[in-house]
Amino acid sequence: MKGSVTLGFLLETNNLTKEFKGYKAVQNVNLQIEEGAVYGFLGPNGAGKTTTIRMLLGLMRPTEGEIKIFGKDMKKNKIDILKKIGSLVESPSYYGHLTGYENLEVTRKLLGLSKSHIVRVLKIVKLDDVAHRLVKKYSLGMKQRLGIALALLHRPALLILDEPTNGLDPSGIHEIRELIQRLPKEFGMTVLISSHNLSEIELIATHVGIIRKGKLLFQGTIGELQARNQPILKIETNYPEKVLEVLNSENIAAYLVENMIETKGHENAAFINKKIVEAGYDVSQLCLHPRSLEDIFLELTEEKETYS
Ligand code: ATP
Repeated sequence: MKGSVTLGFLLETNNLTKEFKGYKAVQNVNLQIEEGAVYGFLGPNGAGKTTTIRMLLGLMRPTEGEIKIFGKDMKKNKIDILKKIGSLVESPSYYGHLTGYENLEVTRKLLGLSKSHIVRVLKIVKLDDVAHRLVKKYSLGMKQRLGIALALLHRPALLILDEPTNGLDPSGIHEIRELIQRLPKEFGMTVLISSHNLSEIELIATHVGIIRKGKLLFQGTIGELQARNQPILKIETNYPEKVLEVLNSENIAAYLVENMIETKGHENAAFINKKIVEAGYDVSQLCLHPRSLEDIFLELTEEKETYS
């Protein structure tokens, strides 16, 4: 349902655009996030992820377009909407000279919540063992989990995390991943998580949106992204240029890579082989190369104007 805001999604944007002095950092983005999804918002550095997230959190005014969250228009219901969102954008802010528990206590008092909420979030992010340790002695991963605990204090329905795994070591990344995966199942939460690395979130995301140069290039389930993953057929022949002409005359899109012919989406290797041989050329090698999700992501986000 591109281009129109309809009921049914927990979060949707319609032609969301942000312009900085004539430069469109976000261009006509139509996000559609279902309730209970873990939505991976992916793109290389500078693609427009943080700018989009800042608009979703009411920290920045869109140049054009609308945002609808929980079925309500952001412009008219900002306070109501933000009350139900938890977020972690850039580094979490905390007091290093206080313990994890005391940091949570500061925010709990500000929000007027009962103490039981602290116990609850400490358990969720698995910081209960180190709750009374000074935060300046926490590892980066623990600090990041404390930031998520702070975002979870008021039981948000939607959690928005901007690159929460940035700078973490593999075990820190694993802990954040494991934590995020549990949120929809155990707490009915919807999660939007941005990253520049597909492999970091492909195991936990149910849906992905891929953004490059401010444009949303793909949005769908991980399965739908996978479906775009056609293997590459590589062919070695004695006269590659001539064979390329033969294939092109059969309307088979093929190209030369280091003297090998490559075609995408043509699993009919036998047919291609027959055509080459019938034209009088030899085939010395013909093999199918499967591509990973990372390959598709890189292909979409590389500097190829064909995809924009
Ligand atoms: P990163 O992972 O590097 O943060 P990103 O996908 O979050 O990347 P953004 O931070 O949204 O990207 O930046 C998108 C583009 O907008 C970049 O070219 C950036 O330089 C530009 N930009 C962001 N904020 C501003 C601003 N306040 N004024 C001018 N340009 C900005």
